[in-house]
Amino acid sequence: MQVRPIGEHRRRQVCAATEACLRRVAGICQHPFPAIDISFDLSGRAAGMYRVRQGRRCIRYNPYILARHFDDGLAETVPHEVAHYATDVLYGLGNIRPHGVEWKALMCALGATPRATASYDLTGIPVRRQQRFSYRCSCSTHRLSTQRHNRVHRGSAAYICRRCKTPLLFAG
Ligand SMILES: [Zn+2]
Ligand SMILES: [Zn+2]
Repeated sequence: MQVRPIGEHRRRQVCAATEACLRRVAGICQHPFPAIDISFDLSGRAAGMYRVRQGRRCIRYNPYILARHFDDGLAETVPHEVAHYATDVLYGLGNIRPHGVEWKALMCALGATPRATASYDLTGIPVRRQQRFSYRCSCSTHRLSTQRHNRVHRGSAAYICRRCKTPLLFAG
């Protein structure tokens, strides 16, 4: 069964929780934080994402994962993303590791679990499948991940078929 994304009512709850969390962070850090753009356009395996694009800061939530894990989302995903935003404002993303000591300290101060990734049950949640690239050896075809394909493309890696021991060549 496909999970239906959270609707208007629950989205407003998530926005309110995000704003409340941000006020708590402002109190903890003794530093003001402007309201942040919130969208519900994230898909895939992550419940949330903090992003800066063209100078605009945004927290994106995954409305499908929130539909299945709403309470966890409020308790964990909201502080997780708010802490990314706050540590960006305070230190600058380029100066800290995303889930480094500054982020962890803030998560602990908020009473949230300082865990880099949550493992949610994704049953029924549309997850983008990783793109694969076709490669041929002498005996068969292989499907390589984007990461491996890029390595081959850059010339930083070559792969050999375990069975026939010939190099894998991009099949286009
Ligand atoms: Zn994170
Ligand atoms: Zn082979």
